[in-house]
Amino acid sequence: MKLSQLFTKTEKLPPAEEVSANAQLLERGGFIYKNNSGIYTFLPLGWRVLQNINQIIREEMDAIGGQEMQMPSLINKRYWEASGRWEVDVMYKLQDANKHEYGLGWTHEEVTAEIAKRYLQSYKDMPFSLYQIQTKFRNEARAKSGILRGREFLMKDLYSFHPDEASLNEFYWQVAEAYHKIFKRCGLEAIITEASGGDFTKEYTHEFQVLSEAGEDEILYCEKCRYSQNASISQMAKGGKCPKCEGKINSGKAIEVGNIFRLGTRFSKAFNLNYTDEQGAEHPVVMGSYGIGPSRLVGTIVEVFHDDKGIIWPASVAPFQVYLISLDGTRVESDKIYKKLLSKKISVLYDDSEERSAGAKFADADLLGIPVRIVVSTKTLKEDSVEIKRRGADGFELVKIKELEGWLTK
Ligand code: ATP
Ligand code: MG
Repeated sequence: MKLSQLFTKTEKLPPAEEVSANAQLLERGGFIYKNNSGIYTFLPLGWRVLQNINQIIREEMDAIGGQEMQMPSLINKRYWEASGRWEVDVMYKLQDANKHEYGLGWTHEEVTAEIAKRYLQSYKDMPFSLYQIQTKFRNEARAKSGILRGREFLMKDLYSFHPDEASLNEFYWQVAEAYHKIFKRCGLEAIITEASGGDFTKEYTHEFQVLSEAGEDEILYCEKCRYSQNASISQMAKGGKCPKCEGKINSGKAIEVGNIFRLGTRFSKAFNLNYTDEQGAEHPVVMGSYGIGPSRLVGTIVEVFHDDKGIIWPASVAPFQVYLISLDGTRVESDKIYKKLLSKKISVLYDDSEERSAGAKFADADLLGIPVRIVVSTKTLKEDSVEIKRRGADGFELVKIKELEGWLTK
């Protein structure tokens, strides 16, 4: 895409009211637009990043057998009453013209349990899992961390259905493995952290926590084996010994990017979601639920990967792979390189302006954080070359134009 055609523009200064690095940099770069506190638009650049993350999540969810679907956000009061969750603080409630009451979807255990009831009869129908990537609504008391905590945000929510605890546990750890892959593919190390089960279950739940000063949580973790507990429940202490490997325990602020819950039979009992076993006896279905916040992930990546000049996207989620800059009136030659890269299916943001200064172009390249910057100038063309720099690394490389494709694909 040509930068001159992108409807957004970068800004030199962050919006005055934003305090978090993710919101400042994403707004300056034109990745997101703040409509209201905790409510953001993903602009074309931000949407590309979000879609890349969603694609990674989809691939890993599909790989463990997750079936993607899309459920409603307008959820009738009867669902919440069945599970005893109508009086939940975070739910936005509304009424339609016929005075029917609804809660805006902030999670979907109730809806999935009811849908599953139509198709699930026998032990032979399980296990299975279904998921969606959907906008969620939560009446969050404070929304100061940019897109880390939205009132409207994206969630990937997966729900699984099992005949017994053993089947649930097997799948639970498969999901944990898939989550590690997802976060790793996004360039992040997520520490799997034990946390108390809230009102869902007496067993531990697990959170996936990314160490960052921007996080709202505090975790204790072993420096050696990464065993970790959320500080709010933990018996471990900073400086102490790891109960698993005797390594040293450290603590740090962290962002929760995902979590997994063993729900047990709470929701299946609420919706009479039962199955018959081999002997024909009836039992409640055992459920699990597993969340990831893709929009929070965008913010987390920015919190972890930025410097004083801007964002440094990992290539796997970057909105474009190459930022191509034309200098000194080299438009004709740059156009050719642009077209050639596109024909090789390399995504390029092409800074094609003939008016903007080199300094402004370099500053945008740094702010937008695209992994590879390619500069075409009269100087480089004298050597039939372009100058290549990786975002976040020092030093340049001169690469012959005819070797460019090979360099980029290696
Ligand atoms: P938190 O502890 O941060 O309030 P949660 O424990 O309520 O989140 P879940 O209800 O399990 O989280 O939601 C699943 C995932 O959705 C979370 O792990 C997080 O990544 C994301 N998420 C939750 N709330 C928000 C929010 N307000 N804004 C953005 N992402 C969110
Ligand atoms: Mg939590």
